[in-house]
Amino acid sequence: MEKDMDLTKEFASCVFTEETMEKYVPSSEIVKYRKCMETGESLSMDTADAIAKGMKEWAISMGATHYCHWFQPLTGGTAEKHEGFISPTGKGKVIMDFSGKELVKGEPDASSFPSGGLRATFEARGYSAWDPTSYAFIADGSLCVPTVFFSYSGESLDQKTPLLRSLSALNRQALRILRIFGDKETKYVTSMVGPEQEYFLIDKELFNKREDLKICGRTLFGSRPPKTQELNDHYFGSIKPRVSAYMKDFEKELWKLGVLAKTKHNEVAPSQHEMAPIYTDCNSANDQNQLTMNVMRQVADRHGLVCLLAEKPFDGVNGSGKHNNWSVATDKGKNLLSPGKTPSQNAQFLLFLAAFVSSVDEYQDLLRSTVAYAGNDNRLGGHEAPPAIISIFLGSELQSVIDSIIQDRSYDGTDVKPIKIGIDTMPFIPRDTTDRNRTSPIAFTGNKFEFRMPGSSQSIAGPNTVLNTIMAEKLCEYADILDKVASEAINDKLHDLIKSEFTAHSRILFNGNGYDKSWVEEARKRGLSNFATTAQAMHHYLDPKNVELMKKHAVMSESEMTARKEIYVEKYCNVLSIEAHTLIDMVRREIIPAVSEFEGSLFRTIADMRALFDGAFQQVERDTCTKLMSCNIRMADLVEKLGEALDKASSLEGDDMADYYHDKVLSLMERIRSAVNEAEVLIPAKYWPYPTYSQLLFSV
Ligand code: ADP
Ligand code: MG
Repeated sequence: MEKDMDLTKEFASCVFTEETMEKYVPSSEIVKYRKCMETGESLSMDTADAIAKGMKEWAISMGATHYCHWFQPLTGGTAEKHEGFISPTGKGKVIMDFSGKELVKGEPDASSFPSGGLRATFEARGYSAWDPTSYAFIADGSLCVPTVFFSYSGESLDQKTPLLRSLSALNRQALRILRIFGDKETKYVTSMVGPEQEYFLIDKELFNKREDLKICGRTLFGSRPPKTQELNDHYFGSIKPRVSAYMKDFEKELWKLGVLAKTKHNEVAPSQHEMAPIYTDCNSANDQNQLTMNVMRQVADRHGLVCLLAEKPFDGVNGSGKHNNWSVATDKGKNLLSPGKTPSQNAQFLLFLAAFVSSVDEYQDLLRSTVAYAGNDNRLGGHEAPPAIISIFLGSELQSVIDSIIQDRSYDGTDVKPIKIGIDTMPFIPRDTTDRNRTSPIAFTGNKFEFRMPGSSQSIAGPNTVLNTIMAEKLCEYADILDKVASEAINDKLHDLIKSEFTAHSRILFNGNGYDKSWVEEARKRGLSNFATTAQAMHHYLDPKNVELMKKHAVMSESEMTARKEIYVEKYCNVLSIEAHTLIDMVRREIIPAVSEFEGSLFRTIADMRALFDGAFQQVERDTCTKLMSCNIRMADLVEKLGEALDKASSLEGDDMADYYHDKVLSLMERIRSAVNEAEVLIPAKYWPYPTYSQLLFSV
C-alpha cells in the first residue's frame, strides 16, 4: 500500500497548537497566556504581540501570505476577510507584519450579515475578537484566527459567543455540584461533543444540470427509482473506489487541521455516507465541524463530485442528520455522565442524569427551536429521522434503575431492598446498550447523550448552547438546594431530590418506537409538546421562561434573543421563497415545455396511425396524451397559484409570514411535486430535461 502521509507528523501540522506555540513564542509569555486561559482574565497587549509575532513567523514558514479573522455569523456558516501580512517600508519594499492588535481585534464591515435589528444602519461596524480557547490554523494560504463577532454595542452577532457563554455557565454550576460532593481538585468542567456528519455524494456534472440542486441544495421533485434503500445493501456496504478516494483525501485535509476524523461508512440511502470525528471539547468540536463541512465540500469539487449537506436532498429516502453526542467532563477527563463504581459516584451520576432529564423536559420547546429551520423540517419525522416530539431514551437497564427509585422498589426483582442513593451502588449499566433506539430524538448511550435532531447542514453551536445552558440551570437549582443542607443529611436530601425530579419529569422518558403513530397521541396525553414545523417551534422561542433562562446565565440578553428569532424566522421564509421561485422557474421554463413537446410528438404519431389504421390502435398514445395534458394543466395552474401565494406572503410579517409560507407555499410546492413526478414517469428519458433520481443516486 502506498504510504503518502506520516500521520503522527502531519496531524495538526496546519494548526498553531500549544506545542507549536512553544517553538515560536517565548516561554515567559506562554506562562502569562496560560494563566489568562485559566483565570479568564484578558491578555496584556505585550503578550498578544508576542503571540501574534510567533503566529506570523510560523504561518509564513508554512507559506501563508494572509491572515483572517474567522467567525461564525448567524447565517449558520463561517465568514472570513483576508488581509495580507504585507506592509510597505518605503522604496518599493515590503515586510510581513502582524501585530497583537490585529490578532486580538478586527473590524469587518458587518452591514451584510444578519443582525436582526441589533445593528442600527448608522453603525454598520461589527467587531471580531480572538477566541484564544480555539487554535488558529492555516487554510488556503491564510492564517485563520477563530474569533467571536459582535456589534458596536457589544451584542453578539454570531453563533460562537453564546456557545462560549453557555460553557462558562455550565462550568460555574457543575463546579458547585462537584464541590458539594467533596471534589476540590477539578479546575473546570466543559461539555464534550462528537458530531457525526452525514452527507450525500453525487456527480458534479449531473448536479450542474439541476437548478434545484444548484440553488437550493435539494431536489424539488423527482420520482422514486424502482430501488432505493429497501434492500439495506448500502448501509456499511463496501465503499466504492471513487468515494473512497474522496474520503481519504478529505480525511488527510482534516487531519492536517487537527480534526480527529475517525469513522467513515456508507449510510442507509444510496449515495449517503457518514464521517464521525473523535469527540473533543464543545468549542473546538463546533469550530472543527464548520471546518469539516467546508473541507468536505471543497475536496468533493476536486473529485468531480458534490457533497450535499442538505437535510433532505431526495424525497422518499433517508435524510441526513448530525448526531450530536454530548457529555460533561472535568479538566481531568472524568466523564460526569458515566455511572460510577462507588455509592457516592453513583449519587453524583444520578444527580447529573436527573439534571439532564428534567432540564430537557422543562425546556423541550427551546431545545426543539435549536433544530428548527426549513431544511430540517423536510427531515424530522421522516425516514430514520427522529420525530419532532422531544423525548429521551435511557435503555432498559437505566430505565429500571430510575423506576425503582421512583417507586421505592428493587430494580430487578431479585433485591429485597430498593436502591438508596448515596448508600448503595447501582447495578451494572452496559457502556453501549446495543438495543439502540434509532427512533429516539435523544438517546443515552452509556456515558453520553446522542441528540439526533440536528440537521446535517447546521451549526452545532445553537443546540449545544441550549444543552449547556439548560443543564447549568438545573445544576444551579440543585446546588442552591444542596448548599443549605448539613453534610450528615446530604444523602437523604440527594435521594429525595433525585427521586422527586425523576418523578416530576418521567413523562419525557420514552423507550418505545418514536415513529409509531400511537406515540403522537401518547405524547399528547403526557403533555409533551409537538411542534412539527419551524413556524410552530419558533412561536415559543421568546417565551418568558426561555428569555429568563438565557438572561439568568448571561448567555443571551433579551435583545439578542429577539434578534435571533427575527433572523431565524426571516431565514425560514427566505429559504422557502427561493425554493418556490426555483420550482416555478423549472416547471415553467423546462418541464411544461418538455411535456408539450412530447405531446406534440404523440399527436403526430396518432395522426399518422389514424391514416393507416382505425381508432383502436391509438389507445395507448391517446391515454398517455390525456394523462400528460392533465399533468400540464395542473402544473400550470399550481405554478400560477404559487406565484400568487408568494406575492401574498411578501405582504405579511414575522410569525404570520412563516405560518403562511408553511401552510400555503409549502403545500402548493408539494402538490406541484406530485404533478411533476407523475409526468416524469410518462415521458421518454430523452424528453425529460433533468437528471432523474436513478441517475443522481446511482452514478457515483
Ligand atoms: P454510532 O454511529 O454508533 O452512534 P459512532 O462511533 O459513529 O457511533 O459515533 C459516536 C460519536 O460519539 C463519536 O463522534 C464519538 O467520538 C462520540 N463520543 C464517544 N464518547 C463520547 C463522550 N463521552 N462524549 C461525547 N461524545 C462522545
Ligand atoms: Mg450515531
